[in-house]
Amino acid sequence: MLIATLDDGRRISLVSTKFTRDQLNRLRSRERFYCPVCRSPVRLRLGNKKKWHFSHHPKDPCIVETEPESPIHLSGKEDLFQWTKVNGRMPELERYLPEIRQRPDIYLPGIRPIALEYQCSTLSEEKFRERTDGYTSLGIRPIWILGGARQKKSRFLARLSGFESQTIQFSKRSPSCHPFFSPYYVCYYYPAEKRICFAAQLHPVSKTVYIAREINQVLSAARPYQLMMPSFPFSSETFKQDWNDCKRRRRLNPPSHLAREEYWLRMQAYRLRINYSSFPSFVGLPHRDYIHFSLSPCLWQMWIYIIMTHGPADGWFTADMLMQTGKIGENETVFVRRPLPLCPRRSGAEVIRTYLGQLVKLGAADRRGDTYRLRSARRTGESAVDQLLKQDRLVLDLLEHEPDQ
Ligand SMILES: [Zn+2]
Repeated sequence: MLIATLDDGRRISLVSTKFTRDQLNRLRSRERFYCPVCRSPVRLRLGNKKKWHFSHHPKDPCIVETEPESPIHLSGKEDLFQWTKVNGRMPELERYLPEIRQRPDIYLPGIRPIALEYQCSTLSEEKFRERTDGYTSLGIRPIWILGGARQKKSRFLARLSGFESQTIQFSKRSPSCHPFFSPYYVCYYYPAEKRICFAAQLHPVSKTVYIAREINQVLSAARPYQLMMPSFPFSSETFKQDWNDCKRRRRLNPPSHLAREEYWLRMQAYRLRINYSSFPSFVGLPHRDYIHFSLSPCLWQMWIYIIMTHGPADGWFTADMLMQTGKIGENETVFVRRPLPLCPRRSGAEVIRTYLGQLVKLGAADRRGDTYRLRSARRTGESAVDQLLKQDRLVLDLLEHEPDQ
């Protein structure tokens, strides 16, 4: 914590640099400090390694559940506080919200108040959900900025595990209505470099891995509204290359360890004598909304292909009918949702309908009202791998240039 109260009720904040170590030492010998939330005594820590702060005695923890604050968390919190202040947002540090017993790192008042959480430590998904729901129940919009050390990336891929994927936000300020543009992003902050980093334009390629564009911004040059409505340049050529790179890998190098869902899917294909790795090019198409399904688009679209080619004889399906299929276990389906509590909702059927629309656009399916059928020419026919790889590139070009039907 960076704030405590004194015996006489005055608040003391360590955020500004107005205190010297000597002054604080003198204050410490003279005064007692209390937690503004639970009123228990707290200690003033004036170490050399960490930023100066107050802390509860380990035997006497706060009623507000918090994680221990690392040096990075403390200095990041202070940076973000100063930054929002300089930008006229009248931030309140560590404001306690008694109704929900939560204390966001930074509270920004307004018509729609904002709770900024700078999250460096790991949270369970349940805890994350609880805190997010707490804020939402008070009409507060939570924004989670992840500690820089949490950022995991290799080339154009970003990994978001556990609660991290739930911090994904949706930017309404998306100038591009390009079919492959994605308004989904997560936000990191690096206090040592005073740098905000967006992993933006997220397209999932597995449960935890996404194609992402990294966009960096010096904190002083950024504005707080950009945390909610960033706008990013988009290159369709780069995206198509990256997407097909992932798809090619899926065709040529089956993963050594199969997730349960993929194993199940391969079994279904095997039983029906479908060659799994030579799936048609219209399996594994990208769209911004496919982030709402947890499985890779290649997998759930593979299932749609299987069910539409080997389902009932007349072969006409609605999105809702497809949504009812693909049960893997008790409560699991191929269409398992990715929890995105900070993003606008999409129903599973809506997402499937988008995919069926893409199939029509590619001439792979016919549409009659709400029902869709795969064209028979597309049902069979296995092609050589290099043929398929060429097709993979072609379908993206087609999706990009053909008008919607
Ligand atoms: Zn306390």
